[in-house]
Amino acid sequence: MQDVHWTQVLSYIGLGVFFLLGLLVALLLRKSSQADKLSQSLAKLTRSFHELDEQAKLIVRTDLELNKAQEELDKRMVGLEALQKISRLISTTLDENEIFNRINQPLFADLGFEKSIILLYEPQPKNFIPRIMFGFTEEKVNACVAQLLKDDNLLQALSDGHSFSSTASPKQRKEKIVEIFSLQNFILTPILSKNGLIGLVFVGNISEGSTVTSGDEELISILANQVGQALENARLFEEVYRSSQMLESKVQERTKQLASVLEEVQKINKMKSEFISAVSHELRTPLTSIKGYASLLMSGKLGNIPDQVKERLEKINKHSDNLVKMINDLLDIARIESGRTDISFSRQSIKPIVDNVHDLLTPQLREKSIHWEVKIDGVPEVMIDKHLIERVFINLVGNAIKFTPIEGTIRVAAHTQDDKVLVEVSDNGIGIDEEHLSKLFNEFYRVENEINQSVKGTGLGLSLVKKIVEAHGGKIWATSQAKKGTTFHFELLTEAPSTEKIP
Ligand code: ADP
Repeated sequence: MQDVHWTQVLSYIGLGVFFLLGLLVALLLRKSSQADKLSQSLAKLTRSFHELDEQAKLIVRTDLELNKAQEELDKRMVGLEALQKISRLISTTLDENEIFNRINQPLFADLGFEKSIILLYEPQPKNFIPRIMFGFTEEKVNACVAQLLKDDNLLQALSDGHSFSSTASPKQRKEKIVEIFSLQNFILTPILSKNGLIGLVFVGNISEGSTVTSGDEELISILANQVGQALENARLFEEVYRSSQMLESKVQERTKQLASVLEEVQKINKMKSEFISAVSHELRTPLTSIKGYASLLMSGKLGNIPDQVKERLEKINKHSDNLVKMINDLLDIARIESGRTDISFSRQSIKPIVDNVHDLLTPQLREKSIHWEVKIDGVPEVMIDKHLIERVFINLVGNAIKFTPIEGTIRVAAHTQDDKVLVEVSDNGIGIDEEHLSKLFNEFYRVENEINQSVKGTGLGLSLVKKIVEAHGGKIWATSQAKKGTTFHFELLTEAPSTEKIP
């Protein structure tokens, strides 16, 4: 009984142990899966840590690069500002020396270079003239120039527009430039105009590690362009200025020549007037005798004369009259030209003078049934020699009657214009072609037309009229339309003209 009891107890214990073992195994199994999970998480964490580390390193690297870029940008900004200042300074002068005076060392240093040279190129004979030397002695620059002049290849490349720098040039070329200028970090750029090479810009740094960037190259190339532009403008201006000076001195010389020619012409003209005047005087006396004898013969006091002879004598008389008129006109022109006519100015109204001329010419006006119109009310009095101006009207109205058909119209008008009175004598006669208008006032000028062929004239009337008007300080001109009519315009002054105004 007792055995059974123990067996039972043992089996219960065995069961319990088995159960406990099972529980332990289950627990262990659970723990190991947790450990797996943990180790996976740990691996993940390690990966993340590595990634974070990489990112941190990247951030540090980027930050460093950003700082460098910022530094570069700041340098570029200072350089650009300096470039802008230089361009403003050099573009506002047209004097070549002043261009280089305005480029000073601090401004140049702001471009980022410790040393700089600007050389101007002279092609014949081949030479470089130093205009800017910052950080170089004169001897050094002269030595550089001498070496540059020897290197035809380099000069040709520069003339072709190539720039060189310590970072972007072929090794051989770079070594040659370093040898010439004794600087490891440099930029060498040509200054070009439309005619080719006109100079060089060389910049460089002595400091170790200061490498030349492509931004620097761009900056110096812009500078070279702007110096080239400013030089071209200055040279162009100089050229224009020099030619204008030359032109001015030529004009002065010609003016002097013309003045002496004018003086000569005036002298000759005076001699001509004096000659005409002398000859006219001499002609007048025998003409008066001829006219006197013709009249005496015609009067029959020396006996009856046949009709045929009488007819011829009348012709002699008429031609003598024409000759006397011509001589008188010539004498008057000569007198006015040489200033020997005394012009007695007085304040006069135009209207009575015109009315007087109308009275005088009424027979001729009536003969052709010409309408007479006057419109000169409201104009001020003018300073004139009454008798001379009356002759002007007689000549102009006389011509108008001559060249106006039967029942035509002649109109005299006057109106005020500033300090002058403008007078117009118009007709609706045959008119004058444009080509003759400017020559009408020349002595002996007559237009070839039907009326002139049948009516005698001297071609001196308008010349005399012009001389009288000009002696009064005014001008005279004609406007006309062929077959429609002609208008003569002339000015009279309200005050006596100053003597300088009279030609
Ligand atoms: P003349 O009348 O003696 O020929 P003028 O000097 O007075 O000389 O005139 C010069 C010319 O001008 C005239 O021959 C005529 O051809 C032209 N002329 C002048 N006045 C007129 C006019 N009113 N109409 C047309 N032609 C005119």
